[in-house]
Amino acid sequence: MLTLERFSFGVGDRFAHQAKAQLQAFQKLEAEGVVVAPVWNKSNREHTFVGSEPQSVFDAAQAAISAKGWKHGWHVDADHIRLETVERFLTCSDFFTLDVADSIGQPPAPAEVEAFIARHPELVGTITIAGVSEPFTTTRKEVETVVSKYLLAVKEAGNIYRHISAKKGEANFIAEVSMDETDAPQTPSELLIILAALADEKVRVQTIAPKFTGRFNKGVDYVGDLAQFEREFNDDLAVIAHAVQQYGLPANLKLSVHSGSDKFSLYPIIRRALARTGAGLHLKTAGTTWLEELVGLSEAGGDGLVLTKEIYAYALAHVDELCAPYASVIDIDHSKLPSAEVVNQWSGPELANAIRHIPGHPGFNSNVRQLLHVSFKLAAKAGARYLDLLKSNEEIVAKQVTENIFERHMRPLFLG
Ligand SMILES: [Zn+2]
Repeated sequence: MLTLERFSFGVGDRFAHQAKAQLQAFQKLEAEGVVVAPVWNKSNREHTFVGSEPQSVFDAAQAAISAKGWKHGWHVDADHIRLETVERFLTCSDFFTLDVADSIGQPPAPAEVEAFIARHPELVGTITIAGVSEPFTTTRKEVETVVSKYLLAVKEAGNIYRHISAKKGEANFIAEVSMDETDAPQTPSELLIILAALADEKVRVQTIAPKFTGRFNKGVDYVGDLAQFEREFNDDLAVIAHAVQQYGLPANLKLSVHSGSDKFSLYPIIRRALARTGAGLHLKTAGTTWLEELVGLSEAGGDGLVLTKEIYAYALAHVDELCAPYASVIDIDHSKLPSAEVVNQWSGPELANAIRHIPGHPGFNSNVRQLLHVSFKLAAKAGARYLDLLKSNEEIVAKQVTENIFERHMRPLFLG
């Protein structure tokens, strides 16, 4: 089996120009003694918006790996794929995020639920798991409800998994199962039932992305109850360790935290949990690297600043349309979005400060940042004009990209 490393970190590179700058952050971390595998991820939705092909992600990653001489593992993630979208990712990805959120809540045949419970009497009653805050007590009725909610989603994961296995060979890819893009979070006791069902389907899942409680808005910090998150995260780790033993799932099975970028208030909690348990982690940061491109272009001034201001003005004029596909993962206070006239008066460093995520910085504006985050297709529309600016300002942009990943993400997560 192609084995996912204990620590892995997902990076998105929407315009395929920052792989080297991203890898630089992993090398800085390596120099501090922690090896984390980079995983370049791009979803079908992003490819559609940007007009790119999955092969381009592999090519950019491979070029960076060769240029910088990275000696450790690295992967290319077909992010949030489904049976109908997986095809063009098959040759160029070795990591597949099986998105089965749409099947959550679809009712299975009652006989299938019956059969599951008959196979798993251990899930009914009181389950004591080493490391959970309190034992789970679940009635047969409750197990039935959970199984009814998730069984078809798990079976769908099985369908996609077997499809990829048939094409690539089971030993040649890493499977992640994601359930994060749904309304309700999964509790640790639900996670246990889901893992039992994945084992039944013979899905060799190496990382699982549940939906945690609280808001995981794109590009900004976590909003929610930190104590509750900590309890839930620790319980999830305990459930995973238990499920690995009980159901024979891969020994390296670990949690994946999606929309994991910028969740600064969670990193100390996660770091403590990993140190205490020895567990692994996959943290997926996805598309925020493109915001660092805008920070760099703003700092650069000149044409880069002009284009960034144009993108902002257009985004502001089309705010509802741009935000609609992301309604559940952004929280923008429209009254705090400065007008295009105001932003046009800003210097490069002022605009950079508004976008760059340094909480507590007087210039930072999380509304501006979130709006720009969902506006990446405007840069795609600018085409060569945008890409040429990335090239002519490569150094200043790369510095933002590396610093963001290393200083604001990796340092608090892995070094403390
Ligand atoms: Zn996700």
